[in-house]
Amino acid sequence: MTSNSGYHQFNVGDLKVTMVSDGFFPMTADVLPTVDDDKLQDVLATAGLPAGIYESAVNAFIIDDGKDVHLVDAGGAGMVDSLGKLTENMAAAGYTPDQVKSLIVTHLHPDHIGGAVVDGKAAFPNAEMVVSADDHGFWTNPDIKAGAPDDAKPFFEMAAGAVDAYSDRLKLIGDNKEVAPGVTSVSLPGHTPGHTGFILSSGNETLMLWADIVHMQYLQFDDPSVSLVFDIDPDLAVATRRKVLDQVATDNMKVAGMHLRHPGIGHVEKVGSSYRFNTGT
Ligand SMILES: [Zn+2]
Repeated sequence: MTSNSGYHQFNVGDLKVTMVSDGFFPMTADVLPTVDDDKLQDVLATAGLPAGIYESAVNAFIIDDGKDVHLVDAGGAGMVDSLGKLTENMAAAGYTPDQVKSLIVTHLHPDHIGGAVVDGKAAFPNAEMVVSADDHGFWTNPDIKAGAPDDAKPFFEMAAGAVDAYSDRLKLIGDNKEVAPGVTSVSLPGHTPGHTGFILSSGNETLMLWADIVHMQYLQFDDPSVSLVFDIDPDLAVATRRKVLDQVATDNMKVAGMHLRHPGIGHVEKVGSSYRFNTGT
């Protein structure tokens, strides 16, 4: 196991997995419809974090199967200055963009595809893009975009730009598809229509890379009903979160996530009607 502030490396059976930090996204109570700033400040104080904004981790994950290198998500370069560290941290972990054979996208939100494109071109020149057909269908549908509020339109434009850059090597998937050896998709809809996690399975080890099941770990394990303004279908996002938390706690399955703070991996424990996250490998 190798670790520094920019990445954290561990194994799932024969798969070598590297959590790579893209930096952080500054989060305020404005994005949490049911949580006011007083509550957020209480939660930050309890967690021993600085008062004010919450620095939400933005992670990507490299899966190295010994033959090929796969990258799950590409961080949010271009959104805010505190993001865009993916390639630098990949390099620190020993990987270059041209090694990536498949860029596997959990959903087409800007903090997951921002780094997929540089100057209108694919940032991973040798990679195919793998994304769920449902997310692709939603974010590239002109009628849905036309009906979306103005402040949501840039999301559609970024998604279309990312997909366009890989249009000659785009692979659309559904639930339960093997996208790399030992890596199988699992549909986790709600946050976006095609929001997708991946089950990594090798030897006798299993891990769920659950993408955005939890955005704010100091709130949503305790109260899974907390949603974000970015949830396309908040009720379904909550139902999916509850189902996944229950499953991984019952099965004692390791989880990794795009917004779990360093090292981005841990275990979930059921405590009464809520959950507790035990961070670490
Ligand atoms: Zn996200």
